[in-house]
Amino acid sequence: MAVSNELRKDYITNRWVIVAEKRSLRPSDFSKTEDRKKETVSKTCPFCPGNEHMTPPTILEEKKGGKWDIRVVGNKFPALSQKTDIFPSNNHPLIKMGAFGSQEVLIETNNHSKRFFENSKAKVNRILEMLIKRRKKLSSHKKIEYVLLFKNFGRECGASLSHSHIQISALPLVPPLIADELNGSRGYYSENHSCPFCDIEKLESKSKRFVSSNKNFSLFTPFASIWPYELWIVSKQHVQRLEDFSKPQLLDLAEILIEAIKRLNTLFPGTPYNFVIHDTPGKNLFSYYHFHLEIYPRYHHKTFAGLEKGGRIFINEVSPERAAKELKEVRI
Ligand SMILES: [Zn+2]
Ligand SMILES: [Zn+2]
Ligand SMILES: [Zn+2]
Repeated sequence: MAVSNELRKDYITNRWVIVAEKRSLRPSDFSKTEDRKKETVSKTCPFCPGNEHMTPPTILEEKKGGKWDIRVVGNKFPALSQKTDIFPSNNHPLIKMGAFGSQEVLIETNNHSKRFFENSKAKVNRILEMLIKRRKKLSSHKKIEYVLLFKNFGRECGASLSHSHIQISALPLVPPLIADELNGSRGYYSENHSCPFCDIEKLESKSKRFVSSNKNFSLFTPFASIWPYELWIVSKQHVQRLEDFSKPQLLDLAEILIEAIKRLNTLFPGTPYNFVIHDTPGKNLFSYYHFHLEIYPRYHHKTFAGLEKGGRIFINEVSPERAAKELKEVRI
């Protein structure tokens, strides 16, 4: 019997889990491809040209020279589905709802081996524009509260396929980490009368944690990094959402994002990582929250232990100041 996935809330805290049993059926191509040569097309990869029948139908695509160059498809094994009804149940302390939403995948390239940072600035700009298009469409649904845009690269960072892609998750709630940041930012604003992210950017662009910048963005290792070599990209202007950037700003974002991943990859070749866009939810505009992109590298097979899992206190064995120095000095 088909069982719908459920979003369940922790008894007390604002922590959510999606119970999705079928996800364990997801295929992985890492065992086959880890020692791979640099092949541009793989016969078994669902994201490669010629294998389009292996993915759900195309939602949006951009062509170049007669072939698709960027393609958005549904996730074949979604944890969230528009076929699920929300049915919230506030039966304390067992609060839950149907895992309503959608998960799409943006396939960045038709080249099986091309890595994100190997794309040109113009190409990453087009990828960002495509993400914006999908996000606008998905957030217009009244039951969708937030569309989280993120990338998983490498098996240890949650990617089941090695072909470079970005995830688009439309959620019926604001992700708790973003909700926490919004709450903290509101508190900061009421005390200091300024947006914390505007202040953070000004402070970190002159700190020992500064790595790089361009006209519109700063790249630095955050003061309380959880992950060794964690990086944040923060916009210099008070821009709330990805979709609110001007054309030159979006191009600058593409440029600094490529640079950040390139720096990381030069220091630790092939290292897995995630990046996640954090910005203002939906149609709401706040004077106390603004766009940033967080990058979490996976360093030396680090796993969480009891202190992290049971106490949410993290141990970071590389100071953000040392990480920044290395990331800044590495030749790219
Ligand atoms: Zn492929
Ligand atoms: Zn701001
Ligand atoms: Zn954030």
